[in-house]
Amino acid sequence: MLKLNVGDFLEEGVWDVNCLRECLPLHIIQLILSVHAGFNGSGTDRYIWQFTPNGSFSVNSAYSSFFPAEVSVKWDWQFLWRLRLPPKVKTFLWIVCHQKLLTNVQRQKRGLTQVPTCPRCDYPMETIAHLFKDCPFSLAIWNCLQIGDSSSPDMMDFKEWLLGNLQSKRMVYNGLPWPLVFALYLWFIWKWRCKGIFDQRFVMSADPQQLIIQYAWEWFNANKPPSPSYMPSVVQLHWIAPTHGVCKINTDGSRNCDSGSIGAGGLLRDNYGAWIKGFSVNLGVGSVLEAELWGIFWGLHLAWESGFRSVEVESDSCVAVALLSGFTISTHPLFSLISCCKLKMQADWNCSVKHVFREQNVAADVLASKSSVFGPGVHYFTEVLDCLVTCLAEDAIGVSRPRVVAA
Ligand SMILES: [Zn+2]
Repeated sequence: MLKLNVGDFLEEGVWDVNCLRECLPLHIIQLILSVHAGFNGSGTDRYIWQFTPNGSFSVNSAYSSFFPAEVSVKWDWQFLWRLRLPPKVKTFLWIVCHQKLLTNVQRQKRGLTQVPTCPRCDYPMETIAHLFKDCPFSLAIWNCLQIGDSSSPDMMDFKEWLLGNLQSKRMVYNGLPWPLVFALYLWFIWKWRCKGIFDQRFVMSADPQQLIIQYAWEWFNANKPPSPSYMPSVVQLHWIAPTHGVCKINTDGSRNCDSGSIGAGGLLRDNYGAWIKGFSVNLGVGSVLEAELWGIFWGLHLAWESGFRSVEVESDSCVAVALLSGFTISTHPLFSLISCCKLKMQADWNCSVKHVFREQNVAADVLASKSSVFGPGVHYFTEVLDCLVTCLAEDAIGVSRPRVVAA
């Protein structure tokens, strides 16, 4: 019988792809490749919590993992908080969308009344859908507000109706967003319904739709964002050569959204922007952050093995750079890989890692996206690949590329 340990598949701390291939099918190897196998210095094995990004336990994440269905319902309506509406109306909508508004049907469920009928039209069940969508008193106002194309509410499911109207991009009355008018319609219907019950002196306006539109205009005009600060502007960015004697390492990770396969790539250049070496690594299946960190790992590895003792690493992943620059919690799922990169950075050489924008990291991006072409594992290149010729020449003479930024 074959007797093997995990360590038998490792060579200097990384997976020996040839060895894995002798024993395992490709789809299993794909799952293994991006996992960092650990090494001296990455700490002892420990349990981590899988439901948070940093691996430490929280009650909230535990609850969500037990009741995933409830969480997905909750997220359905998360967009409400991003709508441009008066805050009190957002809170009101949140209650409506979660079917918690105290209509007579809801009050009966809670034992607050015996009678679930509509107080306005005597329909036997005052559900939320009846209150806003089907009650003739609401419909009369709705029909006055409606302009043109929207389908009649009684043909639609209540949730669909709410979502469709709140996510609509329509502008009405020469410049009002329809979701604002719609949300205020719901707000006033509820307000007037309650006033009619509790306030003996309340008299319904003869022109209720006008009140809603007027309120919407007043709020909209008072809460307009100052327009100039939202103008995007364009900056020109280019690759910056290192100083004499320093080797620059550009690295990048890539992930295919459909297959989940990840890869990384990178290259070493001198102070003239001249190519020294490059690599591309096919990492199987994983997350984009894993790909970015593996890119930095292999870039550092290649530079060290090539004898450089003064290096600058550039990555366009600010998350990866931040993880390597600061303290990392030991429950982080990628703790072992992060620690390994940090140990390489702290070796006996001058080494820095910094964030650049994608426009300054194009050559590494090309190598990372090519990783799927090559088989599993790392591939080194000593000659310039054809697909890199143009961007290397552009980088060497400082050709800039435009990037749109918020002013
Ligand atoms: Zn009614």
